Amino acid sequence: MHSPLRALWHTELLYRARQQLALRDEAIVQTQIAISEIAAPTGEEHARGAWIARRFQQLGLHDVRTDDAGNVIGRRQGAIGGPPVVICAHLDTVFPRETRVSVQRCGTRLRGPGIGDNGRGLAAMLALAEVIDGQQLRTASPVEFVATTGEEGAGDLRGAKRAFAAADAKAAIALDGAGDERIVHRALGSRRYRLTYRGAGGHSWTAYGVPNAVHAAAIAAAKLARLPLPREPRTTLCVGRIGGGISVNTIPDEAWLEVDIRCTSTYVLDLLEREVGEVSRVACAEENGRAVRGAAPLVATVDRIGDRPSGETAAGHPLVVMAMEATRLVGREPELATASTDANVPISLGIPAIAIGAGGRGGDAHTPAEWFDNTDGCLGLARALGVVVGAAGLGEWVSGSVGQWVSGSEEARRARE
Ligand SMILES: [Zn+2]
Repeated sequence: MHSPLRALWHTELLYRARQQLALRDEAIVQTQIAISEIAAPTGEEHARGAWIARRFQQLGLHDVRTDDAGNVIGRRQGAIGGPPVVICAHLDTVFPRETRVSVQRCGTRLRGPGIGDNGRGLAAMLALAEVIDGQQLRTASPVEFVATTGEEGAGDLRGAKRAFAAADAKAAIALDGAGDERIVHRALGSRRYRLTYRGAGGHSWTAYGVPNAVHAAAIAAAKLARLPLPREPRTTLCVGRIGGGISVNTIPDEAWLEVDIRCTSTYVLDLLEREVGEVSRVACAEENGRAVRGAAPLVATVDRIGDRPSGETAAGHPLVVMAMEATRLVGREPELATASTDANVPISLGIPAIAIGAGGRGGDAHTPAEWFDNTDGCLGLARALGVVVGAAGLGEWVSGSVGQWVSGSEEARRARE
């Protein structure tokens, strides 16, 4: 297989850039620690964002700004302009404000909540912004660096949605956590709904016959649990929370449940959304059907409380092929993967996008015992640099870049070469 990356990879410029990254290895880890020690729960990314914005300024990025979603954005101009290649890394962590975020070193391991996810991704993004300095190493297309908000948990990819709605991006690369082998090109989407039942309620004995909101919610949960789901593409449905009522001897006037559905197919997610609406309506009707004549009926509502879009960048797309090649060029074995990351958003918008680890090894993410080991960490940085420069092209090497990506059969032909 031939991709334009191999020729770029061996240029003097990229060779030197990789050496610089290797020389700064320890400084990059120090940056990673500093970032991780600034608390950034989803929805409260401000302090960490301000820190990143100062670093963007110090690095001399153009147009450094914070948008209304809290994303911090900066850019390196390209030699030929046009739509940018976007590198993003999420600012937020799953840890609540009161979590101790100090980082401990034990041997080659660093321990601390968020040290890998996404202290590593953010530090790697800054390292790339430093070596792609716009002078020695100047890309053909501009490169936009975006520290995003709201990637974790209930953040619902708020930052990425805002950033990519505004950006006319040529390609996007999300740096997320540790690792140097996985290439996420399939975006696992999810939709979340809250089903609510409201009625009159009353005394459990004297208000006999008034429809019961908890009963309706329970009927809905039971029906959802039995919905047939496709195996391929793999689809999951989980009623994760349920609640309502004020005491054991009161007919509840309100009850609710929350359901999470995941799949890589928007078509399946759309179908299941209709099913959820139908289940809610039928469950409500069943409970109202048991009420005594004249009792006020329950009213059901369904609110979508989360929407992480889905999709995929084809395995044969030049961006994915190039990421696989960059992985092999650093001596690792590429592994194509499915996950839910900031890359979901550009993928769903038709922008070629992947998510990759930012080097090193890590584990126990999303727990306070999260760890990161920087052994060979610079390989992951070299891989990320290769992918970004491959996607953006090199200023002096425009014809050899994948600067003019084309769609359809031409693209498929190139990918096969
Ligand atoms: Zn992450």
